[in-house]
Amino acid sequence: SKTPVGFIGLGNMGSPMAKNLLKHGYPVIATDVFLESCKELQDEGAQILESPAEVADKADRIITMLPSSPNVVEVYTGANGILKKVKKGTLLIDSSTIDPSVSREMALAAEKMGAVFMDAPVSGGVGAASLAKLTFMVGGLEEEYTAAQELLTCMGANVVYCGQVGTGQAAKICNNMLLAIGMIGTAETMNLGIRLGLDPKLLAQILNMSSGRCWSSDTYNPVPGVMDGVPSANNYQGGFGTTLMTKDLGLAQHTATNTKTSIPLGSLAHQLYRVMCARGYANKDFSSVFQFLREQDEE
Ligand code: NAD
Repeated sequence: SKTPVGFIGLGNMGSPMAKNLLKHGYPVIATDVFLESCKELQDEGAQILESPAEVADKADRIITMLPSSPNVVEVYTGANGILKKVKKGTLLIDSSTIDPSVSREMALAAEKMGAVFMDAPVSGGVGAASLAKLTFMVGGLEEEYTAAQELLTCMGANVVYCGQVGTGQAAKICNNMLLAIGMIGTAETMNLGIRLGLDPKLLAQILNMSSGRCWSSDTYNPVPGVMDGVPSANNYQGGFGTTLMTKDLGLAQHTATNTKTSIPLGSLAHQLYRVMCARGYANKDFSSVFQFLREQDEE
């Protein structure tokens, strides 16, 4: 029988990911500071413990799925963190999107305890997480990759080895910068079309058979009524929060500044999402940029 897998961070993404491990027959030992999501996973058969340290005491493979760098630092190195109780040889996989330099710090701290840390951020959204169709971008020691792959393939359709620790994050940050630019572009394009008198469904159909097609137009359209089962069909609830996208664009900005790389549209996207956070959009899905742009229009 399979040995238990620890899972820390049962949010929009972590919950469905942990459920897929259960489906594949892995016993899951989980924790989250939000008790309601713990309860939900417990009903699905997971064992719930109080802290990351307790999870580390019981599992020798642990996946973390947390909002941002400070949460990851807390969960790994805090007073009740994983590294307080981690066993030698434990495989630690962090799927949160964070600063690559923090991934490298966590890898060093884990190494000191005889454990192995890999970064494995994901692309795909909540729908892909439920369907086990995520893309994982993995950074870390190549000789540990096969062990990580065994678990990640239960939750994703694509698992890609990127190189040393932190390179998974690098790939993810690049992807999300393009995603933000594409989403804003799709939202403003759809809005212009609607204001020119086009039916939004028809316009989306045309874009999706033309050169403007992108993930934001054909899979995650930001205009209410164009698609079912996406956040725009549900008042922008769930999905990928504007706060999280703003965080990822901040990471793009930070890493671009450090490497003296120009990212004019990435920077503009960052500023736009920051304004949205300050204007009441923080907890909506990032496709709500469509609604935000509509509010800027003159009648
Ligand atoms: P979320 O906010 O829904 O979930 C994060 C969970 O972590 C919450 O349940 C929270 O209670 C828990 N948490 C925070 N601090 C904790 C701590 N100290 N100890 C235990 N639990 C703690 O976020 P999410 O949407 O699931 O995203 C997680 C990560 O994945 C983020 O880095 C995000 O950028 C990335 N991501 C999200 C999506 C998406 O579509 N939502 C897609 C790809 C990547």
